[in-house]
Amino acid sequence: MNRTLADRHARLAERFGTPLYVYDLDEIDAARSELYDALPREARLFYALKANPHPDIARALGEGPGRPCLPEISSTGELAVALAAGRRGQDCLYTGPGKTAAELDEAIALGVRRFSTDSVTDVRRVGAAARAHGAVADCILRVNAPSARGTTAIRMTGTPSQFGFDAETLPDTLPLVRDIPGTRITGLHFFPLSNAQDASALIDAFRHSIILAAQLERDLGLTLRFLDLGGGFAAPYGVPGQRGAYPKLRAELEADLDLHLPGWRHDRPAVAFEAGRFLVGAGGTLIARVGNIKVSRGHKFVVLDAGINAFGGMSGLGRLLPVSVRIDGAAETETATLVGPLCTPGDVLGRGVELPVLEPGDLVSIPNAGAYGPTASLLTFLGRPAPAEVVVRGDLVVSASRLEHHRVALGGCS
Ligand SMILES: *Cc1c(COP(=O)(O)O)cnc(C)c1O
Repeated sequence: MNRTLADRHARLAERFGTPLYVYDLDEIDAARSELYDALPREARLFYALKANPHPDIARALGEGPGRPCLPEISSTGELAVALAAGRRGQDCLYTGPGKTAAELDEAIALGVRRFSTDSVTDVRRVGAAARAHGAVADCILRVNAPSARGTTAIRMTGTPSQFGFDAETLPDTLPLVRDIPGTRITGLHFFPLSNAQDASALIDAFRHSIILAAQLERDLGLTLRFLDLGGGFAAPYGVPGQRGAYPKLRAELEADLDLHLPGWRHDRPAVAFEAGRFLVGAGGTLIARVGNIKVSRGHKFVVLDAGINAFGGMSGLGRLLPVSVRIDGAAETETATLVGPLCTPGDVLGRGVELPVLEPGDLVSIPNAGAYGPTASLLTFLGRPAPAEVVVRGDLVVSASRLEHHRVALGGCS
């Protein structure tokens, strides 16, 4: 990080307090252009709001310059963000294995017409909600595909999952969902990988999905109008590094689609991809302040004002460690454990991390923190305020805000 950026972050920390997320929309625009350039020109790109549902980010990704992303949402809360960001219900793809009748009713009422479905019950519920509004909803069937390893993989069993229809039993399941009033089965949805570190593994996974989609279309007598091939585009998380680069992806995808689904350039099927972390990861930096330095039995602990309450990104799943801190030409570095302020030994951001020699009051910045930040953290645990979130475009501050939780009373108590 250069000096001016560090100074700019320090000024923002002074003005808005720490812990503080800074999201730069210019960087997010750049990521979006990069990904569109790596995909076939005809492809649509969905932004998974799960990665960062900040309204200014959802809005920026849904507007120009460059081609906008469509919202991929999984709750009525995310739907509200997409609508507030200027998108229409009909632009959204609504996904998730636990959709309730009530949320489907709300989604249909707000104009959502495309759902990724994971079970027979799911399609039935979509149908019931659509009928109640005199509507017909497009359902795409999420496919739990067998492993991509080996070309005859279609005969192997995939991993058991709450997501998707098992590919090998789809011939038996399809008749159960085919004619549900209020629905049309219009396509398939694959999402076999996340954060694929290896571009060729990603290309193989897409190829596998394309071949399976073509085979299911043929064997099941489906008419594919929409094919969501998922994502898996990689981005570093809380450590330095670059987004994934996919120089061969576009040509490989075009060749595979031309071969197996030759109508795809004319929307038969329309082909879509999804991304979360790739689009927003590098655009975010978490700035925290050192509260205390403590040595215990010869081991140094740097206690920050941000822990897993602010940058917990699914820490319960053990996906987070280790975080690193940017070292901007520090003369001296040392190894220490980076912890947050919470009263739990689980509040560790990084063990044995290389750090500049720090003092209480110093600012540290954690790079590539734009995805799975505040909303993927234990925000209410131990009752600290949520981190500030400042959206910038270069030097310009677009907005500054903070999430707030409060308890509301429910009726029905005497
Ligand atoms: C979470 C999710 C994404 C985004 O994943 P990233 O790894 O952040 O790109 C995309 N699609 C679906 C269906 C998801 O559940």
